[in-house]
Amino acid sequence: MRSHIRRKSLYWLLLRIVILPILLLTLVITIFSANGFADAMNEEVKQELKDLCNAILMSFNHMYEGDYHIEEQDGVVQLFKGEHLLNDDYSIIDEIKDQINVDVTVFCRDVRVATTIKDTGNQRVVSTLARDDVKQKVLEGGRAAYYSKVNIDEKEYFAYYAPLFNASGSCVGMVFVGKIYKDVEELVWQTVRPILFFSFLAMVFAGLFTVRVSRKMVDAIRKTEAFLEKLSGGDLHAEMDASVLKRSDELGEMSRYIITTQKSLQALVEQDILTGLNNRRSGEKLLLEVQKEFVKAKSPYCVVIGDIDYFKYVNDTYGHECGDVVLKEVSACLKGHMQGKGFAARWGGEEFLLVYTRCRLPRGLQFLEGLMEDIRNMSVSYQEEKDIHITMTFGIVEGSGDKINHIIKEADTRLYFGKDSGRNQIVH
Ligand code: GH3
Ligand code: MG
Ligand code: MG
Repeated sequence: MRSHIRRKSLYWLLLRIVILPILLLTLVITIFSANGFADAMNEEVKQELKDLCNAILMSFNHMYEGDYHIEEQDGVVQLFKGEHLLNDDYSIIDEIKDQINVDVTVFCRDVRVATTIKDTGNQRVVSTLARDDVKQKVLEGGRAAYYSKVNIDEKEYFAYYAPLFNASGSCVGMVFVGKIYKDVEELVWQTVRPILFFSFLAMVFAGLFTVRVSRKMVDAIRKTEAFLEKLSGGDLHAEMDASVLKRSDELGEMSRYIITTQKSLQALVEQDILTGLNNRRSGEKLLLEVQKEFVKAKSPYCVVIGDIDYFKYVNDTYGHECGDVVLKEVSACLKGHMQGKGFAARWGGEEFLLVYTRCRLPRGLQFLEGLMEDIRNMSVSYQEEKDIHITMTFGIVEGSGDKINHIIKEADTRLYFGKDSGRNQIVH
């Protein structure tokens, strides 16, 4: 029975609850690791530039004795260290640029007097001025400063500025060391790119794995659902997909319980409670199927109705319970006998229907002779009665495409003919 509730797919739900968190987690990890790495890199660059700046200042001290001072000639400011003019002195700073690709500038006050930075025309950008905020902080404030993004001649730099003091403590200039922002950024990307790539790859794998597992799981649920739909529609012989039954998880376990329930239902609906044989309803159904096979493929069959002789006497002599025991033993004998030959059903009180499939009358008669013999030789014990013997009478007809009722009626007529003419015999 289909419910009126709008159907939602479990598959999409599973994908949502697994893939979405994976996606978010990957995103968060990537962003945090990229940011963390960029911060660490920034600190590293700052320290590197600071150390380099100090090294330059030490070199100046070591190479040129004396104090920093400024002289002005024809309106041009000149920065000296002792006797040595630092304007246009590239001996140290060009070597640094060549070796480690770091730009260096020496400022006289806020004017660039020596620099490795060149403009697009390959001219050094001397005589240009430092930014106002740098001037304020370093030159006027007398403090070193670090900037993670400074624009100098249309290039962006990580920049470190250190003040230059003379002996009286006045700030006369600055030294700038800077790394081109794009170079550092490229370095960061080189490290972050594999992280991003592998995170993405891991996400794709996790996603594909989830899709695969979810699909298999939902597939098993759908197959179970299809089976239950047939079962609830009355098809007690519906077959559960083998792949679901083979599963070792809860779904497999559930499907096996469903099969047990199906078998219990089959027994309740199709079996005779006392004897365990097919009941009349199921016997008729099975006979109809056999007849269909006859019509379709001309597969011959024989219909037998058998009845225990003088069964009332058994009941009356040994009691009803003993009669039940006899019925059970006879049924077990019939069931054993029909194995591989067709099926048996309890037709009424002590009456049974036997159907031999793929069998013509002469062979059916042969089978029945054997069965008669087995029943005659059967000895039932009940309490102190150890030797109850019974016989049966059978009416047999070869099956046809005629109505089932007619065929059974014919077998019945033959049975009663047998009863009237002495019992313990087969009538055909
Ligand atoms: P016949 O040889 O003519 O068949 O004689 P019969 O005594 O076997 O036949 P009859 O129809 O006279 O009696 C059948 C008896 O079977 C009557 C009924 O109480 C008994 N019977 C039917 N169902 C059961 C059952 O489930 N258990 C027991 N113990 N007896 C049953
Ligand atoms: Mg009888
Ligand atoms: Mg009877």
